[in-house]
Amino acid sequence: MLTADIDRPGADGRTLRDLCLADKNQLSVAAWQAFYDAIGETQARDRGLLPFRVWQIFDAIVAFFASGDVAKAVCAIGVISHYVGDACQPLHGSMLSDGYRDRADPGGSTWPGKGVHATYEDKMVDRFSQDLLARIGPAAEAGAGGSIPRIGNGQDAAYALITLMDFSARTIPPSELRDRYIELGGGTSRPVVEGLWETFGARTATVMAAGARPNDRIIGREQHGANVASTSTAAEMSNVPSLSPQLRQMPIGQACWREPDGTL
Ligand SMILES: [Zn+2]
Repeated sequence: MLTADIDRPGADGRTLRDLCLADKNQLSVAAWQAFYDAIGETQARDRGLLPFRVWQIFDAIVAFFASGDVAKAVCAIGVISHYVGDACQPLHGSMLSDGYRDRADPGGSTWPGKGVHATYEDKMVDRFSQDLLARIGPAAEAGAGGSIPRIGNGQDAAYALITLMDFSARTIPPSELRDRYIELGGGTSRPVVEGLWETFGARTATVMAAGARPNDRIIGREQHGANVASTSTAAEMSNVPSLSPQLRQMPIGQACWREPDGTL
């Protein structure tokens, strides 16, 4: 998944997050490409673009609704919710996405903190999913994440994503998560997973709630910061026929899933 290392300092010390929060016009493909060029990130996989995917899919949703293609619009809403969900996970917006990769020996395949991403996002969330679900709805209703900027077009949606990534990183600093994981001994054992939950469980529910709110705003369920009942439930989604193969053939599906080598 190409998310975005929006905490990597540029030549003047400012990050993509700093630049975009200070000036919405910095949220452009040209500005981001210039930033990546300036810091020497030349590989496509290192040039994250999460906010632009949200912009692109938002525009697709609008176009599908405008042409009366509700099924495709619903598909696109499902896709955008995945990307918004990614943005509320602090490790997705960080150059520390999986530990101190920069401390690996040259050619080395391991480094301090390696594995934190999967242990935190997969193992901990799986193990405590019921506890999380019980907390997310109330936290969303309480307005987790604060006010959401007005979303009237694709660029607004991308900007809202940046503010969500900022909130996530301030709520759970990636460095704190990584260092706690190292302190707990690393790996996926029960004490490590439980230790992460103890330290970050409540805050994880908060960032997930903060991620659910822009999704509800985009699809119109949240009005003026209130009225969040729940996020899409498994029961609701089971009413939608299996759309994945279809979706993958659609332009937005291809844009989202095509691998760097061109395969779907
Ligand atoms: Zn992840």
